[in-house]
Amino acid sequence: MSESDPQPSPSIPPIHSSPTPSVLLNTGARMPLLGLGTYRLRGPDDILQAVDAALSTGYRSFDTASVYQNEADLGRALRLLLPKHGLSRADVFITSKLGPKDQGSRAREGALRSLELLDLDYIDLYLIHWPGTQGLGVGDKRNPENRAQSWAVLEELHAQGQGKLRAIGVSNYTPGHMKELLEGCCVTPAVLQVEFHPRLSQGEMRHLCGEKGVCFQAYSSLGTGSLLQDPLVVQIAQGYGLTTAQVLLRWAVQQGVPVLPKSSHPTRIAENGRVFDFELAAEDMERLEGMDCGQKYCWDPSQVA
Ligand code: NAP
Repeated sequence: MSESDPQPSPSIPPIHSSPTPSVLLNTGARMPLLGLGTYRLRGPDDILQAVDAALSTGYRSFDTASVYQNEADLGRALRLLLPKHGLSRADVFITSKLGPKDQGSRAREGALRSLELLDLDYIDLYLIHWPGTQGLGVGDKRNPENRAQSWAVLEELHAQGQGKLRAIGVSNYTPGHMKELLEGCCVTPAVLQVEFHPRLSQGEMRHLCGEKGVCFQAYSSLGTGSLLQDPLVVQIAQGYGLTTAQVLLRWAVQQGVPVLPKSSHPTRIAENGRVFDFELAAEDMERLEGMDCGQKYCWDPSQVA
């Protein structure tokens, strides 16, 4: 899936003025390759400042979640800032996620709460955040039952009218969780969002997603900040006169993988957005690929039944 893919079906509102490249989802909608991550970005003023900086520098996608407790602040920031930037709701792509505490019988309530807090008529992409349920042990057999129930609810909300949830997907699923979902679902997930960076290149997952038409999306592309001082990344960045953040983000987008860098600093938000006007040489892409060692900086879902 790339910028050269066929245009989305006319019944799906396009992202009108995205200045950054996008990928085509299996729904026919396009998702920008660059989005602003908002984990640990809290408080109305900080969110307003970050969203303003992001919109100014070409971001058109924003990633939140029920557990980030900032959906209402993001919604407010968009209401205030879209007119300032001459944009409308259809120009931005909003992702949110069902919290692990709402998995199963509370899924409908959880998804509708996200819509209400964001104060939006629809969410562009809604993900099951985690394969497990809060309060259950990782090996508990109710985990698969609950996530199947959540998925059925998301499918229903996706199908309703023009779709309160325009696209649905999952996050932090392992290949095993993903195969189970793909076998039982009516709607194929549009997106899988997982940790992805040169130390965690997720070969099996990317292959599975490619085969099934699921867009593979990266989170923690900077290794939550830990990869910014890596000696090889520093060396490559110096060779191009770039920052290490730009090298890490370019490595992903050059492979067509959408990224969601988070920063609360306007200058860094702008820096992270400047990744579409240069290319890394094949040998540097390979050197970065060679860093893969299965290192995770975020949570590990592999034990969740
Ligand atoms: P990340 O984007 O890999 O790294 C963020 C860290 O790097 C922050 O500490 C930030 O600090 C720093 N940083 C950002 N740009 C920088 C730059 N140009 N120079 C120096 N430092 C920089 O980590 P992440 O927040 O874990 O992941 C990104 C987003 O992915 C999240 O915000 C969230 O939206 C999503 N995510 C999803 C899941 C999931 O379970 N689905 C899990 C994790 C993340 P400052 O803010 O101080 O600049």
